[in-house]
Amino acid sequence: MSGEHTSNPVAARVRRLEERLIAAGHVTDDELDAILSGVLNGASPLNGARIAARAWTDPGFRERLLDDANGALPEVGLSMAGGLQEQRLKVVANTPDRHNVLVCTLCSCYPVALLGPSPSWYKSEAYRSRVVREPRAVLAEFGLDLPPGREITVWDSSAESRYLVLPQRPSGTEDLPEDQLAALVTREGLIGTALV
Ligand code: FE
Repeated sequence: MSGEHTSNPVAARVRRLEERLIAAGHVTDDELDAILSGVLNGASPLNGARIAARAWTDPGFRERLLDDANGALPEVGLSMAGGLQEQRLKVVANTPDRHNVLVCTLCSCYPVALLGPSPSWYKSEAYRSRVVREPRAVLAEFGLDLPPGREITVWDSSAESRYLVLPQRPSGTEDLPEDQLAALVTREGLIGTALV
């Protein structure tokens, strides 16, 4: 957390905010570094993909995951406890009748530990405002044309609560092992802007 932000106005603003928090005694530089590395170490959409593949192959895990995601994540070696306090995770499962999609209307909250850094469109004003009002049209712009009868639920994340979409297992994958299933799952599928 040093150097090279003179040419980057956002980084400079972040650093000024950090310095004010440190000066006010809310946090130390070392604590900030520990939080950031805790959040970012190993943060990757591969984690979310592993969760989905396990849920597809292990009905017991799927049930525990949908019931209490924070409690189920350690079964696949993951947790939401990377930051200062553990974030609440709710996993929402797509079904033939219902499609789920994630947003943070206030800012850009996102399950970074499970999906890696968020894509820029997720943070855009256009996505954040429009996906709530006209989710079907926004998903169509992502190339996802849902059948008219399929309901869409938009989940609005917050500082304390994060969501993850469990896509439907694609047909014709009955014989695939868990690691090959995980390779089918994309970050967009776990956000809900793609089917898998
Ligand atoms: Fe946010």
